[in-house]
Amino acid sequence: MFRKTILVLVLLLVPSVSSCGGRGPTATGGKLRVLATTSIVGDVVSQVGGDTIALTILMPVGTDPHDFQPRPQDAAALADARIIFSNGAGLEGFLQPLLESTGATGKLVEVSAGITLLALPGSDQATGDPHTWMDPNNVITWTQNIAAALSAADPAHAADYQANAVVYIASLRDLDTWIRSEVAQIPPQNRLLVADHAVLGYFAAQYGFTQEGTITGSFSSEAAPSARELAALEDKIRQSGVRAVFVSEAVNQTLADQIAADTGIKSVWIYHATLTASGGPAASYLEFMRYNVKAIVEALR
Ligand SMILES: [Zn+2]
Repeated sequence: MFRKTILVLVLLLVPSVSSCGGRGPTATGGKLRVLATTSIVGDVVSQVGGDTIALTILMPVGTDPHDFQPRPQDAAALADARIIFSNGAGLEGFLQPLLESTGATGKLVEVSAGITLLALPGSDQATGDPHTWMDPNNVITWTQNIAAALSAADPAHAADYQANAVVYIASLRDLDTWIRSEVAQIPPQNRLLVADHAVLGYFAAQYGFTQEGTITGSFSSEAAPSARELAALEDKIRQSGVRAVFVSEAVNQTLADQIAADTGIKSVWIYHATLTASGGPAASYLEFMRYNVKAIVEALR
């Protein structure tokens, strides 16, 4: 009796999802349905998948993934996806409980798999630093992971996915070359980074900078600094000759402005874990990195 009731409910639900949700097989034209957690992961998935996939991006642009609260519609989007692409490395703490509660059957693919994660000083984050995308060389690994997962799920289009990946990896290598030529304008003694949280570790390691300190003293934007921690950071900024504090959507701007005012340095906006809407200054991952590198070079050279 109970099973019959469930069957009836399923039969009732299926047509309504297809007709109004845009997620049914007809609505996607038989395309491979995939989901990406962040807008940055989504952009890279879209570069590899092109028109062959039907992509849903879970977090709206402007979202800070460290404190993302899933909405009711997110459960349906997850349940619909054949592949769920996450950044991984501990970024999406909400994801595993949500997958379990929705009974999603899609394959979870962490695009950062295979990247040697940096440790986070002073953090109990067991997995390491999640901000892998701040080095385009890591995003080459993402691209290879995405192409492999799409090809495995949809072998008929494997050649397309591989070809798209080759093109995108070439643009990531160009980006890496461009970043090296840009940061060459910064004198070595100025290559000191302070950000709102530990977002620039991979960038610093790849391009010869030191991450001197962070406002939150943490990998995540969720922690708030004590007065003593703030005073210690300001002392460090004064003593080491740090020239700017980089602030993103992750932390309140007022705190960064106060540190900048107290120490006489600049407070400079960078993008952290989200793209902008199309037409904005960071509408793709490549634009996101170019924007951030220009901001860093402008502030430190
Ligand atoms: Zn972050």
